[in-house]
Amino acid sequence: MELFDIYRQLGVSRPVYELGETVLASLRTRFDAIDRTAEYNQGKVLAAMQKNRVNATHFAATTGYGYDDEGRDNLERVYADVFHTQAALVRPQITCGTHALAVALGANLLPGDELLSAVGKPYDTLEEVIGIRESKCSLREYGVTYAQADLKADGSVDFDAVRRAINERTKLVTIQRSKGYATRPTLSVSQIGELIALCKSVKPDVICMVDNCYGEFVERVEPSDAGADLVVGSLIKNPGGGLAPIGGYICGTQECVDRCAYRLSAPGLGQEVGANLGLMPAFYQGLFLSPTVVAGALKGAVFAAGVYEKLGFPCVPPAGEERHDIIQAVTLGSREAMVAFCKGIQSAAPVDSYVTPEPWAMPGYDAEVIMAAGAFVQGSSIELSADGPIRPPYAVYFQGGLTFPHAKLGVLLSLQKLAEAGIVTL
Ligand SMILES: *Cc1c(COP(=O)(O)O)cnc(C)c1O
Repeated sequence: MELFDIYRQLGVSRPVYELGETVLASLRTRFDAIDRTAEYNQGKVLAAMQKNRVNATHFAATTGYGYDDEGRDNLERVYADVFHTQAALVRPQITCGTHALAVALGANLLPGDELLSAVGKPYDTLEEVIGIRESKCSLREYGVTYAQADLKADGSVDFDAVRRAINERTKLVTIQRSKGYATRPTLSVSQIGELIALCKSVKPDVICMVDNCYGEFVERVEPSDAGADLVVGSLIKNPGGGLAPIGGYICGTQECVDRCAYRLSAPGLGQEVGANLGLMPAFYQGLFLSPTVVAGALKGAVFAAGVYEKLGFPCVPPAGEERHDIIQAVTLGSREAMVAFCKGIQSAAPVDSYVTPEPWAMPGYDAEVIMAAGAFVQGSSIELSADGPIRPPYAVYFQGGLTFPHAKLGVLLSLQKLAEAGIVTL
């Protein structure tokens, strides 16, 4: 059988397949570099697991209070070693990335303190956490003020604006690594390091927190290697490796992570409570798989950029540029094109492939959002997914793919739907 035979069966036409093959042929050196990074990070995860003598007793389920949960405690040591931090909090009780960030912020900011975002507007769902958009229980309601240093017009960090924004009340600086739902460039770990160094030079005791969502294992170093006091993310993105069904992590200094543990459970209880509910096999094995899963997702993102740039759609980052997260923004320019693209991604899925994605008003977002995802874990965006707010510039954010062949099929079918809708001609 020819490779194309299976693609035809899956709904890909010959011209779409051929375009994909042409693009793929030009990406081999990029893919090699991605594999090398995965190899490095696989070694880093293995070294941490070996150092902490991971064994079958760590996979046992605990219930109730979860006292003496050695599997949970050891997983946190493994995370701390992978991220090179003093401490880590890795829990199924952290329900998502927004929750992990809300815990980290709420735990380390007190009434009268100021939070500074050094990279412009934060991720949509954080607007309510902070109180930029009014919400019950926002930081603002608790007397924490917010300041923002906007990015320069070209999307780069405005160091002077950051320096000016730091004052005697600035307690914590938040730095979002990934572009999120914006078409700005994602920050590299080395750029994050420069920014942290600047903040610390102005105010040595300021806490620097990095929203690391989508960035884990994309480079050989993490923001905690570049001076971050707190690094925060979701387990249904990169570090869960597709296997974690829920969860978030916070890695950082002992002092900051302790506070997060007290905020997550209760003052006095902290890290001592929190049953693992039988999730340890998924958390350990997911972390073990994460470096290669991230590599597959990165190849999918590079392939998407290669295909769509060839057709004239602006891509962030461009196909030829080094990556710092797994997100690929493709500016499609219209609502119709966004819908067609997402239909294609949906139709490539192992789960719910027969459903049609529609734009809807989603909690936490200020515009209608369209999402395509046929995931084993609901909302998991390390699995192949595409989404975006229906507003100019009508960009879709493509991410994930537990395997590169699946991500490739998603890209081909998205193009197929655009071609069938008459939006592109091949
Ligand atoms: C996904 C994401 C979040 C929020 O995570 P959820 O799990 O969706 O709550 C925050 N920041 C960034 C940059 C993200 O990509």
